[in-house]
Amino acid sequence: MAGNPRVGVLALQGDVREHAALLAGRGAEVSLVRRAEELAQVDGLVIPGGESSVIDKLSRAFGVAEPIRAAISSGLPVYGTCAGLILLADEILDGIDGQQSFGGLDVAVRRNAFGRQTESFETEIDVPTLGDPPVRATFIRAPIVERVGPGVDVLATLPDGRIVAVEQGSILGTSFHPEVDGELRFHDRFLALAIARSAHRT
Ligand code: GLN
Repeated sequence: MAGNPRVGVLALQGDVREHAALLAGRGAEVSLVRRAEELAQVDGLVIPGGESSVIDKLSRAFGVAEPIRAAISSGLPVYGTCAGLILLADEILDGIDGQQSFGGLDVAVRRNAFGRQTESFETEIDVPTLGDPPVRATFIRAPIVERVGPGVDVLATLPDGRIVAVEQGSILGTSFHPEVDGELRFHDRFLALAIARSAHRT
């Protein structure tokens, strides 16, 4: 891939390896990010699926939560899947007591929105921005986006209209896990933003 962007995967908890392997397979230089010094080295950050309340607590314990917030507001490209989407939301619904997010995405996201009956499921969804074929999407105790602000593009909905993929500037979020289905197009979209960012580096 042209430019070989340096991207990080936030590696506090969750499906870190799957993202790292996919990104490396696309030609990116991938590093695992746990600390501010590591964050400073990358031109984009993936926040994996896992448990958002745990990633929240660990990020504060590692002192990387504030640096991530600052990096996002300075335009660092970020892509959050599932728990990662929750961590990017300005507002969390059904969070645990005291749960915080990095924010940046002007949305409200409800955790575990499909309830206990539907712990996980797979379906195909159309994502017009990505074109054909439809995206094979795996949802695992997934969140739903319940409110989007005016600057947010809705990239995908379920057939009943519930929002499962959004984008705002250089922030991308999906309720589902493309990294487990061999779906590359969301990560490629993120990498294109990281390449653009790396071009401004000296
Ligand atoms: N339910 C999890 C949370 O609240 C998200 C699940 C996932 O990332 N697969 O963080």
